[in-house]
Amino acid sequence: MNKPKIVILGAGYGGIITSKSLEKLLKSGEADVTLINKHEYHYITTQLHKTVVGTAADRQIAMSIPNLINPNKTRFLQATVSSVDLNEQEVHLEGGDTVPYDYLLVSLGFEVETYGTPGIKENAFEIRSFRSSKAIYNQIIKQFNLYKQDQDPSRLTFVVAGGGFTGVELLGEFADGMPKLCKEHNIPFEKVKIVAIEAASSVIPFFPKQSIEYTTEVLEKMNIELITGRKILKCSPEMVVIEPNWEIPTRTLIWSCGVKGNTIVHNWGLPIVRGKIAVDSYLRVKNINNVFSLGDCSLFMKDEKNALAPTAQVALQQAPVCAKNIVASLRGESLKKFEYHHKGSVASIGLKVGVGKVGSLSLSGVIGAFMKLVIEARYLFNLGGPSLIIKQHFGVDRAPI
Ligand code: FAD
Repeated sequence: MNKPKIVILGAGYGGIITSKSLEKLLKSGEADVTLINKHEYHYITTQLHKTVVGTAADRQIAMSIPNLINPNKTRFLQATVSSVDLNEQEVHLEGGDTVPYDYLLVSLGFEVETYGTPGIKENAFEIRSFRSSKAIYNQIIKQFNLYKQDQDPSRLTFVVAGGGFTGVELLGEFADGMPKLCKEHNIPFEKVKIVAIEAASSVIPFFPKQSIEYTTEVLEKMNIELITGRKILKCSPEMVVIEPNWEIPTRTLIWSCGVKGNTIVHNWGLPIVRGKIAVDSYLRVKNINNVFSLGDCSLFMKDEKNALAPTAQVALQQAPVCAKNIVASLRGESLKKFEYHHKGSVASIGLKVGVGKVGSLSLSGVIGAFMKLVIEARYLFNLGGPSLIIKQHFGVDRAPI
């Protein structure tokens, strides 16, 4: 008898942890599992800001997928998914190959939301993937080199759009990492300008007042120019224009103003609500019993009006439940409802301090930064045990980029 085929699309947080959970749950020979991802590496999205100014080594952010999975239990396929044929139960890959499935998990993550702001798609940089973050690093170095030729101050002006968690983490990293980078490239650090633009009246507007005040104070002490309550109107290769019509000459705008579900899934015949794949309480795509979805590309309603936010925390809690439900489906057993438990959120602000909330406790300062490290270490531990933490921090494994 043919073994059931389980195919997982995307090896981000949701996809890789689901495949690791399946390795534990499935009996030998019970199913064939294939994990498909467009790159050979899995990256720690929540640490991408560290790539931008080179405060972390590539190997700490991106790690080879074949080293993370058990090749006897999971087949890894490096390929880009182009579509899924739900009737034929086939995944179509760029290049023309197809992969048949009996059970499918769609965990293809997010895209950056530009809200149609003119010039952003064409000219702004995104902090979306390992490659897009490396592109920012390369842009900084390029502008450093060009500055040496023409001394144009706009080359040393770096603008971050969005003062949410990701924007704040990026700004902190910029401020802490820039002096070293300038020194390495013989650039006068005092000429570098870091500007933050946030449309709301403060940074991290969804946080308690004391966290907002703490973050604002830290960023200002870092000499970051904070502009709040103003929207970006447009962006060209040489400048950013903000409300009411202020021009900020810059060659580098990093757009960090929100995400949406991966739009690649929109034309596959799946139920799309608010731009994402609508799933039921078992993480099954609505009305399609053999297709599951989780993480940023899916829409899980926590009540009638509100959906779960696109966070790593959600994807990581969904993955083991999804794996259990895929196994239960193929065994003809009953499925488990997914319940989300919010554990808190913490953002680093540079290398030494952080801000956030864990349970009912607001954290800031060194404790905040420490908590962020604990969260990241716990993820690495779940992914590959203590040996992965050692490899990542002491450079045994190489980034396969
Ligand atoms: P992803 O992790 O995005 O994985 C999707 C995978 O699919 C990727 O490997 C991608 O390469 C692959 N893929 C995409 N398209 C294709 C295709 N066509 N073919 C093949 N493969 C494809 N959340 C938190 O909870 N805490 C934080 O501190 C935090 N910080 C963040 C900081 C930054 C800079 C960013 C960008 C996000 C942050 N988030 C944070 C959000 C978190 O990273 C996402 O919610 C999480 O990555 C979602 O996991 P996922 O598995 O749905 O998607």
